[in-house]
Amino acid sequence: MPYALCYGVSVRINGVEPRGREIEQLERTLCLLPSMHLRALPTITVGDRPARGGGGSASPTMPGGPFIRLNRMIFDPVQRPVNAGRLNYTLLHEVGHIIDWAFGCMATLAGSDPAGYAALLAHAHSGATQGPSEHFADAYADFFFHGGSFNRGSDNGGWVMPRGNWARDPRIQAILGSPAFSDA
Ligand SMILES: [Zn+2]
Repeated sequence: MPYALCYGVSVRINGVEPRGREIEQLERTLCLLPSMHLRALPTITVGDRPARGGGGSASPTMPGGPFIRLNRMIFDPVQRPVNAGRLNYTLLHEVGHIIDWAFGCMATLAGSDPAGYAALLAHAHSGATQGPSEHFADAYADFFFHGGSFNRGSDNGGWVMPRGNWARDPRIQAILGSPAFSDA
C-alpha cells in the first residue's frame, strides 16, 4: 500500500501510484510537518471524491470519519494551478482541518487570542464550505506553503518561519499561538 514516510512516521495514501509524481508531491508536503501533526492524520484517499471541490476531511467523531479525501483533479495544473509546483496546497488545507479539530485550535483561540481569532475570521475563504475551521485550515496551509516548516535538525526541533511578510501576517501569528503550534 502506498504511504508517505517522514522521519519515521508513515501516513497511508490510497489511490496513487506507489512511486509516481502525485505521491512524491504529497510526501514532500507532509514532511514539512512536525511528527505530532503527522501522527494525528487519518488515511488520505485520492479519488473522485468529493464530487464538488478539491478536498474534504472529517474528524473521528464526524460521519464516515476520520478521513482526508483529495479529488484527483487537484493535480491538474489547469484546474488547480496552485498545486502545480513542489507543494500541494489542497492537502495542507485538509490537514489544517484535522489539526484544528485534534488540538482544538480555533476553540482555544476564540478565548485566548480574540484579536488573532478575529483576524483569522476576517480573511475570506473561497471554498464551498464555511465556518471557523475553514479559516484555520487556510492559515495553516499558508504557513507551510510559503516557506514555513518544522525543523528537526536542531536538538529540540523548532519552527521555521514562512518567507517575507508571511511571517508577520496576523493570521500566521495567531495560529502560532494555538495549541497545535505552541505544544509541538
Ligand atoms: Zn476546508
